Amino acid sequence: MAVIIAVLAFGFLFSCALSLANARHMGARAARGLPAGLEGWFDRDRIAAMVEYNRANAGLGCWGGAVSLAAAAVILASGFLPWLARNLSGTATHPGLQGLAALLVPLFLLHLAGLPASLASSFGIEKRFGFSTITPKTWAADQAKGLLVSGLLMGLLFLGFYLFIGWLGRWWWLAAWGLVMTFSVLLVFVAPVWLAPLFNKFKPLADPELGEKILSLARKAEFPLAGVFQMDASRRSTHDNAYFTGLGKTRRIVFYDTMLKSYSHGELLAVLGHEIGHWKLGHIPRMLGTSALASGLALYLAAQVMARPWLYESIGLAKIYANMGLEGPVVGLALLVASMLFSPLGLMLSPLTSWLSRRHEYQADAYSLGLHPEPEDMKTALRKLGGRNLSNLFPHPLYVAFHYSHPPLLARLEAIDKLGA
Ligand SMILES: [Zn+2]
Repeated sequence: MAVIIAVLAFGFLFSCALSLANARHMGARAARGLPAGLEGWFDRDRIAAMVEYNRANAGLGCWGGAVSLAAAAVILASGFLPWLARNLSGTATHPGLQGLAALLVPLFLLHLAGLPASLASSFGIEKRFGFSTITPKTWAADQAKGLLVSGLLMGLLFLGFYLFIGWLGRWWWLAAWGLVMTFSVLLVFVAPVWLAPLFNKFKPLADPELGEKILSLARKAEFPLAGVFQMDASRRSTHDNAYFTGLGKTRRIVFYDTMLKSYSHGELLAVLGHEIGHWKLGHIPRMLGTSALASGLALYLAAQVMARPWLYESIGLAKIYANMGLEGPVVGLALLVASMLFSPLGLMLSPLTSWLSRRHEYQADAYSLGLHPEPEDMKTALRKLGGRNLSNLFPHPLYVAFHYSHPPLLARLEAIDKLGA
């Protein structure tokens, strides 16, 4: 047990130290004034707000991480897990469902431990900096829907795993991997039409002139446009964004409504060109491939530790495991603890996945410039995005390596200048 808690503590300390180093780096760099290329876009007040906003978020991240770590330690050390296993195995329900409950109950408790930080973000920091427009009712509905959807998805996956463990013994992880991949591909297909509408309303772009320009850009790119939508993001916050999602018939480009009001048509076309670039360059299948490798590795490792008695001894389940083997609630708890044990794996792999993602962003910017050869449009759009979102202009390079799926603003502007020249 001490090993598992130590692993979780390592993950927490590493993440927190990295965010604090990042906040410090930003503060020191911001004090030296504005870099070339951003004069007129960011004034002193905006920079001060950026520093304060990012500092507040770093602090909240550490604080929330500490609460989650404490909750995990209590769950592991209090004897709650063996108690849960004993009680569940005494019920008359199907052992697969007992296993599912053994997984979901502790996960739900961990989720509860994360709520104060989530509340402090939505109603504290985001409100203080004028981003959050969310009402308590929308927040609560989001929570309920989110829990329901993730519980359902996890339930389906878990029951699959459970059957594979019974049928295939130590090779279960291979079938589980196949199931996870099938699920991920299906999710990319259905998420835009089944899941996203649970949380937001999507409608075709309201501006016909912009619609016409978008169509002609899409024709130029030979992009089979399945839809360009605007999403009512302003129900929750004033942050700007646009994204490309879906596969085949469900592929679409979505603009936040917050963005449509404050960006020129040229800027929106530059953003659209970037999103089309993601599609043209096959970035979604590539990211799916990368996550396939990561989930295969995680499942393989989980299967290895789940076959070792020390895993069960470490959380006080030795007796129950000796009696019933890998069955019923033991399966749920074993998966839970294995996922905790390998949680730093995601963190350690993130420099690789973030690097790939940042590469894709540069490629999509370059593609967009070819399609809509107005570098100023792209640059203004990016400066607006960064400024309005109070994005950190001066992130620590190590923090970028671990956490930035998009290149920092200055690096991106520089790359566009190079392409233009
Ligand atoms: Zn992108």
